[in-house]
Amino acid sequence: MFDALSDFSDHVLVTARQDAGSGLKAIIALHNENRGPAIGGCRILPYRSMDDALRDVLRLSRGMTYKTAIADIPYGGGKAIIIGDPRRDKTEALLEAMGDFVESLGGRYITSFDSGTTLADVEVIARRTSHAAGFLPEAGNASGSTALGVYHCMLTAARATCGSESLAGLKVAVQGLGNVGERLVRILAREGAELVVADTDVEKAKVLATETGARLISCDAILREPCDILAPCALGGVLSAGSILELRAKAIVGGANNQLAQPEDDARLAERGILYCPDYLANAGGIINLHYQRSKWDAAAVERHVASLGETFGQVIERSEHEGRPTGEIADRIAWERFACMQNGSGRDVRPDL
Ligand code: NAD
Repeated sequence: MFDALSDFSDHVLVTARQDAGSGLKAIIALHNENRGPAIGGCRILPYRSMDDALRDVLRLSRGMTYKTAIADIPYGGGKAIIIGDPRRDKTEALLEAMGDFVESLGGRYITSFDSGTTLADVEVIARRTSHAAGFLPEAGNASGSTALGVYHCMLTAARATCGSESLAGLKVAVQGLGNVGERLVRILAREGAELVVADTDVEKAKVLATETGARLISCDAILREPCDILAPCALGGVLSAGSILELRAKAIVGGANNQLAQPEDDARLAERGILYCPDYLANAGGIINLHYQRSKWDAAAVERHVASLGETFGQVIERSEHEGRPTGEIADRIAWERFACMQNGSGRDVRPDL
């Protein structure tokens, strides 16, 4: 088990629980609490081994620290995983046992939905803990804020690559038309972008394409489509050494998590002159929405905060050009400066150099 931990030495807490009655087998990982309690969704997946599950929760919780820092919200990074098949194992008893597990951490970890869990599941978890977020009725689905954040980052990309102040007339290719992709396509259609879309669910894609005037193409072709902006909104790992060679986009701005197959792909994109908006910056709108659901709901404040992601991307681009380093590396550094140099808001520098 400790082999899985060797790449991850900077988590503050990793804890597991097994509950015979409900069948719960879960891990919660807290990566960093310097900015506030650790927040991140709860995923249910049929992991092949305990090591796989551990690796996933460690990687995802670390990612949440960078996302909360770049989004400038008072949280750290955490994540929970339940080992199981969501279609077979997800019972109310299991979710309630997960609620007890979350509650046992006394508010150090705030949970929400993720792969394999829905907002309705989070409501069941919340029967047993007050540290669950995302189901405030007036907030709607947080995916709307995610799509809006992607849109604002696209505006920044359009300014940087095409000198354009809007997306009207720019060609945007969207891969994946789910919670985020569909909402993004509707925003872009309203803004007058020329849209090309693809989804493995062809019937769903046809309906959206007809409604929005988008051109539907195959999932194989979407990454190679010549366009101003490519928006990966389906799955991770789509930007790899192989696919990057074939890209014909000027910029990549999408909602999917973990778009880079390898960390080096950041530099590969820069070498090809393709502007990359780091995924956790582009898709941070959802976590901003959750923050306001937990503090004081204010739709206008959420919109302003989500729009600031575009400004942050502008700062990333500026610093990237100034330092001659790829955008992903610069965003990591900005996030790190925000979370590592704070100790529960005291401003104490806890790590001297990057
Ligand atoms: P979703 O499951 O609702 O949508 C994904 C869509 O992609 C589905 O329509 C699916 O059919 C399609 N798809 C799957 N494989 C595909 C392929 N190879 N080519 C084209 N389409 C494909 O998921 P979502 O909530 O929209 O999230 C999408 C991505 O954004 C995920 O990586 C998720 O982790 C990330 N994300 C989502 C949010 C959010 O608010 N929902 C927030 C942050 C990050």
